Amino acid sequence: MQYVSTRGSAPALDFEGVTLAGLASDGGLYIPQEWPRFSENEIASMAGLPYAELAARIMTPFVGNSLSQDKLRELCDTAYGRFAHAAVTPLKQFDEQNWLLELFHGPTLAFKDVALQMLGLLFETFLARSDDHLTIVGATSGDTGSAAIDAVAGRERIDIFMLHPNGRVSDVQRRQMTTVLAPNVYNIAIDGSFDDAQATVKRMFGDAAMNGRYRITAVNSINWARLMAQIVYYFAAALQLGAPKRKVAFSVPTGNFGDVFAGYVAAQMGLPIERLIVATNVNDILHRALSNGDYSAGEVTPTAAPSMDIQVSSNFERLLFDCGGRDGMALADQMRGFEGSKSMQLTNAQRQGASGLFTSERADADQMSAAMRWASDSCGEIVDPHTAIGLHAARNSGLGSDVPVVTLATAHPAKFRDAVERATGLRPSLPARVGDLFAREERYADLSGDYEAISAYVRDHATECSNG
Ligand SMILES: *Cc1c(COP(=O)(O)O)cnc(C)c1O
Repeated sequence: MQYVSTRGSAPALDFEGVTLAGLASDGGLYIPQEWPRFSENEIASMAGLPYAELAARIMTPFVGNSLSQDKLRELCDTAYGRFAHAAVTPLKQFDEQNWLLELFHGPTLAFKDVALQMLGLLFETFLARSDDHLTIVGATSGDTGSAAIDAVAGRERIDIFMLHPNGRVSDVQRRQMTTVLAPNVYNIAIDGSFDDAQATVKRMFGDAAMNGRYRITAVNSINWARLMAQIVYYFAAALQLGAPKRKVAFSVPTGNFGDVFAGYVAAQMGLPIERLIVATNVNDILHRALSNGDYSAGEVTPTAAPSMDIQVSSNFERLLFDCGGRDGMALADQMRGFEGSKSMQLTNAQRQGASGLFTSERADADQMSAAMRWASDSCGEIVDPHTAIGLHAARNSGLGSDVPVVTLATAHPAKFRDAVERATGLRPSLPARVGDLFAREERYADLSGDYEAISAYVRDHATECSNG
């Protein structure tokens, strides 16, 4: 399997190459040259498989020759063996039509673990082959940071530098990062917002002096391997609800468009999906783009669902590429225009391509709280603010009552327990697997948002790569 860039000029790479690269060198995102497809019989034969075995089957065509079957299966067993539920991503019934797919049984309580546990193992496997060293630099509004740190803590060939905005992540989120004292983990609290942290990281990726010495890579959802791992649970849920004989819809709390794009890929691979509902909060650029073609970024409004407080959804570019005729040069022009003006209109082909599968819904703060109360009053379940936005969208989808709608539960309610308590009066307790989080020592550097200070800190602590 070869991967091409959405902007048409970076070299095609195999799976190992795209996993280590993250972003393509032309600024685009990697995507498979063509979608692998399973027949109806092949999909039917996957029913009832243990999660790790299903994962290996789904990933096989994407991995190509980069891993042997045995090695891939071993990595899936290890990654998903760390989940606290035997089903890994259990499905729960809410009412006649609505189901909840719980994606938060991993070590750090959000769905990011499903992909990052696998990515950490892939990095380790590929680096050992080339005897090389990787420097991960990332910015987090909370969930990606803790999941990435857990996935790579203690690994010899990797250093991780994770920037978070000082004082703007929840106590649980911060402690899940800063209490990991492994020597290869460097947490940096910066004065500024998440966007400032993100801008620093982007600048470092483009800094030739840094890139010559270190092999710097990203762990956010621009990395293809993350999306690949997320395709699996769409299959797992749909198979339990009767696929391939019966169509299923999914409602996905969306920020960077990674999770819901994995659902789109599942559909391209032959999984019969009735609809993908893109659920957004008041930061609704995707809702506007999908309903009237207007992709224009405004200011970010902070909400109780911070992982969805995003105005520019990186992975949307992958959809625009696939729906717009896969013309990398044209898309590179379109994206340059957007980067200049923060605004663009989707082409007719892009809008038509997207409308076949996607609809969108937007939830404000009151609608989010109402959905949390509905879940606890009518179904006896406490859901987190992100999941509540998905539930709101699912219940307003207008789909016929014969179509099951699966809402992805993207975080454990305890991760956002203050917001949950405000909406429902109930305070969810932390699950046992996070242990004595509030008793542990914290360690992090406290830096100004200044680029020179942050890059000097990375230079002082990172290990050079083999051609550095
Ligand atoms: C990351 C995250 C999201 C958004 O997922 P995307 O793949 O960025 O669309 C939603 N909910 C939670 C809890 C998250 O951590």
